[in-house]
Amino acid sequence: MGPTLSRDLPVLRTRGTSGNSFSSPSPQINKAEMEINKIVIIGCTHGDEIIGKKVINFFDSVKLEWGSITGVIANKKALARKKRFIDIDLNRSFPGKQFGNNEEVIAYNLKNKLKKYDLCLDIHATNSHFNNAIIITKLNKRIKQLLKLIPVKKVVLMKKKIMKSGALIHHTPLGICLEYGPNKSGANYKYAIQDIYQLLTNLDFLKGKKKFYIKKELYEVDDIYKVHKNFVPNKILKDFSLIKKGQFIGKLNDEKKFSRKNFYPIFLGKGRYESTLALMANKKEWTFDK
Ligand SMILES: [Zn+2]
Repeated sequence: MGPTLSRDLPVLRTRGTSGNSFSSPSPQINKAEMEINKIVIIGCTHGDEIIGKKVINFFDSVKLEWGSITGVIANKKALARKKRFIDIDLNRSFPGKQFGNNEEVIAYNLKNKLKKYDLCLDIHATNSHFNNAIIITKLNKRIKQLLKLIPVKKVVLMKKKIMKSGALIHHTPLGICLEYGPNKSGANYKYAIQDIYQLLTNLDFLKGKKKFYIKKELYEVDDIYKVHKNFVPNKILKDFSLIKKGQFIGKLNDEKKFSRKNFYPIFLGKGRYESTLALMANKKEWTFDK
């Protein structure tokens, strides 16, 4: 670690959700194998999530051993107004339009720009009560290789039906979202820096001890639990904790409601989308080969 980092970076992770790691004296995955030379970090795809800006500022001042990192603030106008978006959600606006509203134009221009990077990290924060998760829109060999290099255990696969093709990472050669909770204030940015720092070390961009994270939990999102806008969810429900069919999930005008299905909820509580209880996922546990 360089002098800048030892000052700014919390050395030990204190939250218990990262994947089990192991160190290897002879790394199996490195820049040569993954062929990642140019990385782009996207911040503020949602303008009220300043975490990405903080992450970009940090890596701006880090001297690399290898490769290049470019930071891009996606929705500057929304960031200036501290709003999620100006006209529509940018992360639902891809591939965008050359002559469209604020987000459509951003999407159109970004999509072309992002093609030249080997890896895109799109940084988000949520008001839902979980520490971190990696969000992907497809699961192929390269994504699997990449997941192994990141100290985040929970992986959320958004099926096409849910994200359609509107998401930013969908339009990159290799892209993931990193999501940090449990608030949007940006206070959790150090965890994002820590995870990305380890990823960069594993990719030989930075000097340090390589660590691989072979245990993951895969949550496949294939539906959304829709509720009336006046629905009041049961506060006992937790993100990534199984909700059983018939379980009490909340009230609508004092009438008790019970779950229609077994599922793992994601984005509950303050982080939920309007008129939804949560995204609905199933869960698989996974251990990569060492
Ligand atoms: Zn976001």
